[in-house]
Amino acid sequence: MIRIEEVTKRYPGGHDALKGLSLHVEKGEMVFVTGHSGAGKSTLLRLIALIDRPTGGQVIVDGQNTRRITRRKIPAYRRQIGMVFQDHKLLYDRPVFDNVALPLIIAGLDHREAGRKVRAALDQVSLLHKEKQSPETLSSGEQQRVGIARAIVSRPKLLIADEPTGNLDPDLSLEVMRIFRRFNEVGVTLLIASHDIALIDQLGCRRIALADGALEVQREEDPVAEYVERLEAEQERERW
Ligand code: ADP
Repeated sequence: MIRIEEVTKRYPGGHDALKGLSLHVEKGEMVFVTGHSGAGKSTLLRLIALIDRPTGGQVIVDGQNTRRITRRKIPAYRRQIGMVFQDHKLLYDRPVFDNVALPLIIAGLDHREAGRKVRAALDQVSLLHKEKQSPETLSSGEQQRVGIARAIVSRPKLLIADEPTGNLDPDLSLEVMRIFRRFNEVGVTLLIASHDIALIDQLGCRRIALADGALEVQREEDPVAEYVERLEAEQERERW
């Protein structure tokens, strides 16, 4: 579903946020991108969503090389991708229903069809009963669920989320992850940036660790070398 090939991203000013990054996400996978602040997680998601373009390398999403997607075609491209952000990005002057309906209205869907899809999306995040309320009257976990309903209302094949539980306590975070898991079970591919390692470990999903714009180098475990090291340390102690 996602092929990142030797991708670099240099921001104006000369900072390299991604340095020759390559990674693949298969269709139907639920994968986490982890790493410290500044590791390049958001940049990676922005390139996939075509909010930004790479300086070098290829970003291929569902067989489409994003390099060939012109500005005019970006809205159609983005309709295949659901996006969830840490700060919800909801419109507070409109009720929950309108917030979720927004992508469908922009896409020109007729109101009856849109209404059906909005209610199905709200049902999936258990917020059908709050469709008329203003987002302001909802808890932060509920607001995040409205953001998720809006992201999946067009039934995207791919969902990308940038620190979706960043502002939530552990219980609400787990609830959000359970919702993501349910989408994954019906075939949606998910790529989620998060630094909440404890939560990710609970879910048992694949983890891609970034450090300073590249894949984090894992220290190879070498039992023989470790044994020799320990032996030498013991001999050293005995000598003293
Ligand atoms: P993360 O999401 O892992 O915290 P980011 O992708 O946001 O990392 O940032 C990676 C690096 O790129 C950071 O050093 C950040 O300061 C820099 N960066 C991000 N966005 C911009 C930008 N618009 N202009 C210049 N530098 C940026």
